[in-house]
Amino acid sequence: MKKWFFMLTMLVFIVIVGQQLQKDQPQRELDRYHSEERYADEESIVTIEIDPEQVYKGKLLLINGDYQLHDAGIADDLVMIDREYALKAGYALEGEELTLSQHVLDAYDMMVKAAQDDHLQNFLLTSGFRSLEQQKQLYEQTGSDYALPAGFSEHNSGLALDISSLTSKMETAPEGKWLQEYGPQYGFILRYPEHKRHITKIAYEPWHFRYVGLPHSMIMKDRDLVLEEYIEYLAERQELSVKLMGISYKVSYYSYQPLISISLDQHSQYDISGDNRGGIIVTSWTEES
Ligand SMILES: [Zn+2]
Repeated sequence: MKKWFFMLTMLVFIVIVGQQLQKDQPQRELDRYHSEERYADEESIVTIEIDPEQVYKGKLLLINGDYQLHDAGIADDLVMIDREYALKAGYALEGEELTLSQHVLDAYDMMVKAAQDDHLQNFLLTSGFRSLEQQKQLYEQTGSDYALPAGFSEHNSGLALDISSLTSKMETAPEGKWLQEYGPQYGFILRYPEHKRHITKIAYEPWHFRYVGLPHSMIMKDRDLVLEEYIEYLAERQELSVKLMGISYKVSYYSYQPLISISLDQHSQYDISGDNRGGIIVTSWTEES
């Protein structure tokens, strides 16, 4: 009888404990949820899933003799512009039409407007996006001293532009000087400066500008870094913060990993770019209120 009573008590005990454990489970979930909610008021941790292809996509891709552009790196917002469009936007076009990334075109148009306010009106856009086929033909026609093989030119991505002046050579044209000085405010950098030839392995090209976007263009100008050096600098520092024109930026560098956790405050936005050599760069920004 005692044994029977003991077993019944144990059974009741097990059932009660079991129910209690089941009840505890959702309670703990709820606690976690509440603590995250509280945290989100100031800053929240966002975990982003990163596609392996992302390494080869984005505005910070390093494209040079060592790092070939992947198909994934060709801008997915290519648009064609014609002479009429260019004329309305305030510049001339060499040839009948030209293709560019829409993002890059918007930044370029804005930059030309600002230059016009400084009384510069002789911009001539000579080259934008080149397909791999066009690059191949150019390379065959002009040779390795004047063109890069298909896939190794920034023009194949849609992120680079050749800009000339209608009145003089870019080395001496006021348009060239203005672009070098103020282009970074619009996300553009002179890609192959004379004094960095030993790093870029490309001769001075006063007409070739590359879009990298803000704040990267301003940091590169401020610290006198070409893209090769800037990517290396980010990989070493891993994180940097800058304030520009009322916006706080944070730039973080990661070796590729499928999940990246970043901390954002309520009003932050972010974008992601690969560096074409195994790294992922997350840029987040918040407008100061
Ligand atoms: Zn070029």
